[in-house]
Amino acid sequence: MAGKRIILMGPPGGGKGTQAKRIQERYGIVQLSTGDMLRAAVAAGSPVGKQAKAVMDAGKLVSDEIIISMIAERISQPDCFNGFILDGFPRTVPQAEALDKLLTEKRMDLDKVVEVAVPDERLIERITGRFTCAKCGEGYHDTFKQPKKPGVCDVCGGTEFSRRADDNAETVKARLKAYHVQTSPLLPYYEKKGLLMVIDGDRDMDVVTTDLIKILGA
Ligand code: ADP
Ligand code: ADP
Ligand code: ZN
Repeated sequence: MAGKRIILMGPPGGGKGTQAKRIQERYGIVQLSTGDMLRAAVAAGSPVGKQAKAVMDAGKLVSDEIIISMIAERISQPDCFNGFILDGFPRTVPQAEALDKLLTEKRMDLDKVVEVAVPDERLIERITGRFTCAKCGEGYHDTFKQPKKPGVCDVCGGTEFSRRADDNAETVKARLKAYHVQTSPLLPYYEKKGLLMVIDGDRDMDVVTTDLIKILGA
């Protein structure tokens, strides 16, 4: 129903974007992906994009300051009044604290924080096989999710696809380290608030979606 506010957590390549896209359609809420926002800033050549690019290419985290102001601005837009699913944010304790403050100011609560758990050894394959439709952003995978008709996007019929600059085996290691060191402390942070649910993301994507919907409710 209306008004759901959800955080989707999980390691890089764990399936957050895939699941967030499905959830936003089902619940009529918006997906807020800080990674997508940063890539748009890089593509636009904005000052934020210029600062973020090297950091992203190295697989490190962009500064809390940049991320927090980006989210504060985005969450204030009218399409977020009806609810949102945060994908890839927060990623540090200061980001989570800033989000709490922001939501308190807006008299909003979080409904659930869901961790999509996937073991490290799976993630290299997930990430190095990832590609997306250049037109609509639908996600695909070399092994796990090819377009039904080769070379044609299932969703929009587009025929151009792109791969992320940071989706390579070298960068994955740095991203996994950032996840374990900087982001994983958020699990106990939300556990203490009674908001955390964990689902096994090491299964077929449709099975993961079914579980997620069970957790999030009608
Ligand atoms: P993935 O889908 O692999 O988890 P994202 O698209 O979420 O990756 O993020 C890509 C990159 O953008 C990250 O490696 C990091 O450099 C930067 N980034 C995205 N979200 C955040 C955030 N909340 N805090 C800091 N850096 C971020
Ligand atoms: P994240 O947003 O967490 O970085 P994505 O949703 O982009 O992760 O998924 C990473 C890659 O793995 C994509 O190519 C996607 O198609 C694929 N993928 C997502 N979920 C699964 C799954 N449950 N099983 C196999 N592959 C998956
Ligand atoms: Zn498409």
